[in-house]
Amino acid sequence: MTAATWDEVLGQPAAVQTLRTALVADEVAHAWLLVGPRGVGQQEATRAFAAALNCPETTTDQGCGTCSTCRRISRGAHPAVADLEPKGANYLVDDVREEWMPLATRTLTEGRRRVLRISAAERMNEAAQNAFLKILEEPPPSVVWVLDVEDEGALLETVVSRCRRLDFVPWGPAELTGRAATLGVPEEQRPAMVRAALGSPERLADLADPDIAKARWDHLSLLDRLATGGPGEVIPAAKERVQWARSRVAPVKERNAEELRQLGEAFGVEGSQGWPPGVKARLTRRFERLERQEQRRCLDLLLDDLASYLRDLLAVQAGAGGAELVNLDHEAALRRDADRLPAADAVVGLQAVVRCREALDRNGNPELQLERLLYTLALPLYRAA
Ligand SMILES: [Zn+2]
Repeated sequence: MTAATWDEVLGQPAAVQTLRTALVADEVAHAWLLVGPRGVGQQEATRAFAAALNCPETTTDQGCGTCSTCRRISRGAHPAVADLEPKGANYLVDDVREEWMPLATRTLTEGRRRVLRISAAERMNEAAQNAFLKILEEPPPSVVWVLDVEDEGALLETVVSRCRRLDFVPWGPAELTGRAATLGVPEEQRPAMVRAALGSPERLADLADPDIAKARWDHLSLLDRLATGGPGEVIPAAKERVQWARSRVAPVKERNAEELRQLGEAFGVEGSQGWPPGVKARLTRRFERLERQEQRRCLDLLLDDLASYLRDLLAVQAGAGGAELVNLDHEAALRRDADRLPAADAVVGLQAVVRCREALDRNGNPELQLERLLYTLALPLYRAA
């Protein structure tokens, strides 16, 4: 990404139009609620909006895209623009009082409007929402809040009603096919990959990564592995998939170590001496969080794959096929497995995927949770065999 302009917001013409109209009319709400699936352009739209609000060369509804302000906003490195993310499972009242409020009331050293984006805002617990409500009731004049949510039902009505709502939609096949080309996906693989991306450009980018594409194949073959390998396959399969998720954390660890090294150099650290107070502890916490997030993201890829396969299995049993399937490239396997796993057990399997996700949210042990899920799928297969 090079410039924070509207051209970089793909697949969201209605949301972009609303934001640009607000800029032209000079009616920028102090809080916006972006409702839609994650990662379909919310960050790009927020940055283009922030650039239009802060670029010194702005043309009413768009930043110039080339000045230092626009370029730093595009990189996420401008002091007036911040992405706020949960440090653990939820945002807590302390996050609102000790981090967001000081940030919102601090004097701007650069730019005209501070733009603060709260990603996964539905993860504010009720106390945090009530504290945040106080800010929304007396908003600091130069601040624009952008709340990113998948489901606004988890937010208090009083918070929702103080925000202007904007819908973000899954990407269509045209945008995804274009992105697949940019990502270098061979033309013959694009239709299946676009379908498997489920409207998400982030998932598409994952699927274009050969290691993740191979993992998807492994995930979609799990049912066959359980059906042919017998009950003894459950524990090794669970262990192997968790090991794969852990292996994906290694590059994140390397990046973190490199950042720590560079910062240490900038601070003139020798050995472990010379860090300003609190800095290293803060960094370590952030790095650990990034590493945990990556492992979880990979386990979620596995769960998404399994859920989509079970969904397809039910569709095949109901007479669907071809373009109606999510996993176009697995139709033959789906037809085979549709005869092995009765529909009622596929539904139980889908519920087990949901329970596995919830258990991981509560920091459940990944291997044990995955074993439980695989046993749920495996037992009816053995009964049938
Ligand atoms: Zn600019």
